[in-house]
Amino acid sequence: LPNHTAVVSHIAIDIGGSLAKLVYFSREAHSTEPGGRLNFQSFETDHIDDCLEFMRKLKRRYQRANGSNSPPASDLCVMATGGGAYKFYDKVREVLGVDVLREDEMECLIIGLDFFINEIPREVFTYSEEHPMQFVEPGDNVYPYLLVNIGSGVSFLKVSGPREYERVGGTSLGGGTLWGLLSLLTGARTFDEMLDLASEGDNSNVDMLVGDIYGTDYGKIGLKSTTIASSFGKVFRKKRQAENEAEDSGGLGHKDQLHHRQQQSQTHNGVHTPPLLDEDVEQQEPQLPDFTSKDPSRPFSSADISRSLLYAISNNIGQIAYLQSQIHGLSHIYFGGSFIRGHPQTMNTLSYAIKFWSKGAKQAYFLRHEGYLGAVGAFLKRQP
Ligand code: ADP
Repeated sequence: LPNHTAVVSHIAIDIGGSLAKLVYFSREAHSTEPGGRLNFQSFETDHIDDCLEFMRKLKRRYQRANGSNSPPASDLCVMATGGGAYKFYDKVREVLGVDVLREDEMECLIIGLDFFINEIPREVFTYSEEHPMQFVEPGDNVYPYLLVNIGSGVSFLKVSGPREYERVGGTSLGGGTLWGLLSLLTGARTFDEMLDLASEGDNSNVDMLVGDIYGTDYGKIGLKSTTIASSFGKVFRKKRQAENEAEDSGGLGHKDQLHHRQQQSQTHNGVHTPPLLDEDVEQQEPQLPDFTSKDPSRPFSSADISRSLLYAISNNIGQIAYLQSQIHGLSHIYFGGSFIRGHPQTMNTLSYAIKFWSKGAKQAYFLRHEGYLGAVGAFLKRQP
């Protein structure tokens, strides 16, 4: 445990579809100074047992610090939010032997965000390529605003005042989509590897750009030649072209490959089981496909694919965020959720989309602890 001499007093957890986010307060054991620090830690929800083990260690620190004279260990209260607060409720109580108080997920998100906006200096920032990370200090007119929380899925919340909010929309094309599709399409094994690939990639190898269609820009309606006309729009043609070239040069051509695959896919007791993906039949071992390989029918790199999909998801969310802000008359748009992860291309895309569609009238804001809004909100909800 980091900072392991510090006394722990209070734990909150936000267990989502992809990640479990933990926030706890600690202070130095013999410090005469008031105050302490908030600690942030996340685990994959699939590895919830690791998370519970971590929390058990925190509980032991709490017990040691309080000895026998002060509150009993069972008084260490765990605040919980997110879907996992329900799904894993019994498990958390059992493993930790403490009481668990559940709090509403959306309410926690906005309580957490309000705290970050109003109380934490150098937390909220705007982003552009020319001016990355410009911190914003709280003004008098925080409300109303739109919160776009990009977790596994995406929620759009209209916030009119403290604890006054409404979920006005959502989309299932979110962080889980990028994570899932890139695990199918690239060799990346972790989300951070996917983001690293995206940083290196060139989406114009995969996306159909305005310039590919017009040969130039389409200035009349404000489209640059580099504007994406169709995400992944070049793939089909490029792939077919590569296959035809391979066929012409005497390799295993497209028709041969198709035939070969069909034969392989029929081997299960004669029942026809079409492969979900080529890899199902081409790679019997649990190996990840390598799109950078010499296979001529796959002229796309993992990096280009990652960049393209990151743009597709982020642009889509940026566009919906703008439309929601228009419908509800909101000009401040906060983006939260672990999907963002401080990644420059993601923030630039979201920020640019808001600026572009609103013609500069609306502003996108980001947070240093973007993934912890719900956990911090739950943390703050504990009654003193
Ligand atoms: P949820 O509450 O639905 O779990 P989060 O706000 O925690 O949502 O965001 C989850 C998303 O964050 C994932 O779907 C993925 O896009 C991204 N992400 C960021 N870091 C990681 C990581 N270490 N492992 C998996 N996904 C991550």
